[in-house]
Amino acid sequence: MQTALADFIRDTPEGREADAILRKCVHCGFCTATCPTYLLLGDENDGPRGRIYLMKQALEGQEITDRTRLHLDRCLTCRACETTCPSGVQYGRLLDIGRKLVEEKTVRPAWENLKRRALAEIVPRGWLFALLLELGRLARPFLPARLAETIPASVTRAGAWPAARHARKMLALAGCVQPSLAPGINAAAARVLDRIGISLVEAKGAGCCGALRFHIGYQEEGLADMRAMIDRWWPMIERGGAEAVVMTASGCGVVVKEYAHLLRHDPAYAAKAEKISAMTRDIGEVIDAEYARLEPLPLKKGGRIAFHPPCTLQHGQNIKGVAERVLARAGFELTPVPDSHLCCGSAGTYSILQPELSVQLKRNKLSALASGAPDEILTANIGCLAHLQSGTERPVRHWIVALEERLS
Ligand code: SF4
Ligand code: SF4
Repeated sequence: MQTALADFIRDTPEGREADAILRKCVHCGFCTATCPTYLLLGDENDGPRGRIYLMKQALEGQEITDRTRLHLDRCLTCRACETTCPSGVQYGRLLDIGRKLVEEKTVRPAWENLKRRALAEIVPRGWLFALLLELGRLARPFLPARLAETIPASVTRAGAWPAARHARKMLALAGCVQPSLAPGINAAAARVLDRIGISLVEAKGAGCCGALRFHIGYQEEGLADMRAMIDRWWPMIERGGAEAVVMTASGCGVVVKEYAHLLRHDPAYAAKAEKISAMTRDIGEVIDAEYARLEPLPLKKGGRIAFHPPCTLQHGQNIKGVAERVLARAGFELTPVPDSHLCCGSAGTYSILQPELSVQLKRNKLSALASGAPDEILTANIGCLAHLQSGTERPVRHWIVALEERLS
């Protein structure tokens, strides 16, 4: 695609990156066929090719309207289009640049701003999120059904975290919402890794990975969260001997793996960010590589499960079939799931900011997951887990919890 970026951005790092991405796009439209919002709405501007064109116009200095912002807001950032694109267009990176520009050049209605600001203030503060969740739970019987179903009625206890007794150590990210919604995920990961001979440790006081603020219009605040995370982790990497940073939430993993790119122009953090991104692994990658140390497993079968691969895992991190392989080796029977490349509609805060589209995607995903009549649904990201659980009576869990239960 030919481009003529406007003077205000052409010679900036973002302008150069956007220009290189735009020039790769040949406008073939293959990506539209796998875009969840295009499939729902049928509007070219609600598909990747249309959005790329809208961002090109914005970067070339044409007027940026509320319609431009709406079509970018409706994008799930699922990056299914990247997986499909034969030309290697890095849509996600272009979207970060496009959204920042649109945020600067348009004015959102006050109510929208308030919602986004509230999310940016509450969600990354784990203690505040936990407090509000507890209050929500108490108020649950009195809330409208649609709101009540988003608040889990109870939380499964985490169980014991094994003592750090092994020479091999890995760092875990506690995250912001996961400790309140499903505290058992990291504890289960720690117990499985303990069997393998690896001690999993969490950095005290480490909060949000930065994804939330970065992706809802507060990119500088998101970058500040990333730097704070690096500061918490760095002593454990430099002197504590951690060999990897383990992610049990693929939504966080995809962003931590991008720290190197996002902080590449920051002289104080670029080298540290590069090292951290390089040593970050999804829990599936770790277990898959070390699986031989877990065997032999009990002979009884593990049950019928439907696996939902989060977009941040399969498209964002390009990790496909790894958790499924581990689960199959562990004796679980995986039921077929049509259209497993499509987003479930959780997408970070999307379910709050774009509720109608999110609910449609959730319904479609749950019906696809249920089509093979599984006993339960397993996934790899807390956002997808909570979102899907709010629409079904069938249990939805992190796969590492199911694996650990089977081992014990
Ligand atoms: S992003 Fe890729 S698949 Fe989509 S129109 Fe451009 S070149 Fe084609
Ligand atoms: S990121 Fe997902 S929703 Fe956004 S354009 Fe690409 S496929 Fe469509």
